[in-house]
Amino acid sequence: MSKSPIYDVIVVGAGPAGYSSAIRCAQLGLKTACIDNWRNKQGQRILGGAHLNSGCVASITLLESAKLYHALNHDLKKHGIHAENISVDIAAMIDHKDTIIDALGHRITELFNHHKIDSIHATAKLLNARQIRISPVDGSETSIVEAKHIILATGSSPMQLPYAKVDNEFIVDSFAALNMTTLPKKLAIIGAGVIGLELASIWSRLGSETILLEAQESFLSLPDQQISREAYRIYTQQGFDLRLGARVTAAKKGSKKVMVEYQDQEGSHSLRVDKLIVASGRKPNTENLAAPEANLLLDENGYVYVDENCRTNLPGVYAIGDLNLLGPMLAHKGIEEGVFVAEQIAGRHSTINYDTLPSVIYTDPEIAWVGQTEQALRAMGEPIKIGIFPFHATARAHASDRTEGLIKLIAHADSDALLGVHIIGVQASELIAEAVLAMEFSASSEDFARTIHAHPTRSEAFHEAALAFKKKTLHIPN
Ligand code: NAD
Repeated sequence: MSKSPIYDVIVVGAGPAGYSSAIRCAQLGLKTACIDNWRNKQGQRILGGAHLNSGCVASITLLESAKLYHALNHDLKKHGIHAENISVDIAAMIDHKDTIIDALGHRITELFNHHKIDSIHATAKLLNARQIRISPVDGSETSIVEAKHIILATGSSPMQLPYAKVDNEFIVDSFAALNMTTLPKKLAIIGAGVIGLELASIWSRLGSETILLEAQESFLSLPDQQISREAYRIYTQQGFDLRLGARVTAAKKGSKKVMVEYQDQEGSHSLRVDKLIVASGRKPNTENLAAPEANLLLDENGYVYVDENCRTNLPGVYAIGDLNLLGPMLAHKGIEEGVFVAEQIAGRHSTINYDTLPSVIYTDPEIAWVGQTEQALRAMGEPIKIGIFPFHATARAHASDRTEGLIKLIAHADSDALLGVHIIGVQASELIAEAVLAMEFSASSEDFARTIHAHPTRSEAFHEAALAFKKKTLHIPN
C-alpha cells in the first residue's frame, strides 16, 4: 500500500454537504481532497451524490417534465390553446433528466478543478482519526491517505424492507423509480412520506393510477396539521389513492405484476399492480464507513454521534448532512453544515441556525415551512395568534390558473414575533425564502404587514396573512 501527502482536510462524500464543504475548505486555503465512489448508469464518475443523481434534483427535473405533459393534456384548452395527438416518450424524458444531471455533475467537477481540490474516485474507510484507506473504483491498488481533519459526508440511502425485496424491475426503490422507462398503468407506493408523495406527483401527472399505502393513521405528521389536511384534500382531488393506516406486510413479483399484501383496520387486503415503489424511509450510509478499531461512535440507527459543532467522538473528525441527527435529512442543511465545519477548521467564527431551516416537499403544489407548527406551539403552551391567507384571493394565482393552497403565519400573541410560516401552493419552495429571511432577522408579523409586496404576485399572500392578524385583509372579508 502506498502513502500519499498529508492533507489539511479530506472530505468523504461529494453530495451537497461534502462538495460544499470541500469547496469552502479550499476557499479558506486548506489543502483539500474529496473522496467519492458514485457512478452513473454508464458506470462513469459523477459528483453530486444521491441528491443530484437519484434524489431531489432528479425528482424535481422529472416533475417539471410531468407537469408540462399534464398541463398540455388538461389545462391548455381553457386558455384557448389546442394541442392534438399529445403523447409522452418516458424514455426520452428520463434521458432529458440524465442530461441535466450530467451537466450539473460536470459543474461540480469544474468547481473542484478551479479550487484545486484533489478529487479521488474511490470508496473510503476511516481507519483512525487521521487516516483513511481508499479502494479505487477502477479496482487499482488500495492506499492510505492522511489528513489533519476528516469530514464524513456519505449521505443516506433507501431503507430496505425484508418483506418487499427490491429487484429494481417490478419492486423498485426511490432511485429506480426515477429511471422507469415505461409508464406503469397501476402503481403502488409504500410510504406516503416526503419521497412517496414526490414520486406519486411525478407518475400520477404522467398518467399512472397511483395508490399510496401508508402505515400511519395520520397523514404527513411533520408539517403544520392544517397544511397536511389541505395537502390531503388537494392530492386526493388530483387522483392520488391515499390509503392511511395501511401497513404493507408482503410484496411478491408475479410473471408480469406485483402482488402487494397490506393490513388496515378492516383486515387484510391484496393489490395487483404493475410496479411497486418502496419509499419507506432512508438510512445513513455508515455501514463499512469506519473500521471497528477506529471506534467511531454511532447510535442504534447508524447515525454518527456528533456534538452541536458536528464533531464526532474522534478528534478532528466531523460528520455532516444526512449522517448526523442535528436536523432533518435536507440537502441545504448538509450544505450549511459543510460550510460551518470548514470555517471551524480554518479557525473562523461560524454559526448555524437550525431554527430557521426551511423544509420543502416538492410535490405539485409544493409544501414549504419554517419555524414551529401550530400543534407544537400549542403543546408548549405558547400564546399564539394565527393569520391565514388563501392563494385563491390573489389575482396572480388566478392568472396562472393555480389557485389552490394558502399561507399561514404564526406569531407570538404578546411579542408579535414570527414563530412559524407554513405554505402549500405553487412555488412554495421559492416563497418560503422570504419567511426564512424574516425569521432570521427576528421579524414580527407587523414587519410583514408594513412591507409592500408587488401586485399581482403570490407573495402578496404574506402581506395579507399578516394583515389578517388585525382583521385588515384587503382581498378577503375579515
Ligand atoms: P419518510 O419517513 O418521510 O416516509 C416513509 C413513510 O413510509 C412513513 O410515513 C412510514 O410510516 C411509511 N412506511 C414504512 N413502512 C411501511 C409499510 N410497511 N407500509 C406502509 N407504510 C410504511 O421517509 P422518506 O419519504 O423515504 O424520506 C426519507 C428522508 O429523506 C426524510 O427525512 C425526508 O425529509 C428526506 N427527503 C427530503 C426531501 C425534501 O426535502 N424534499 C426529499 C427526499 C427526501
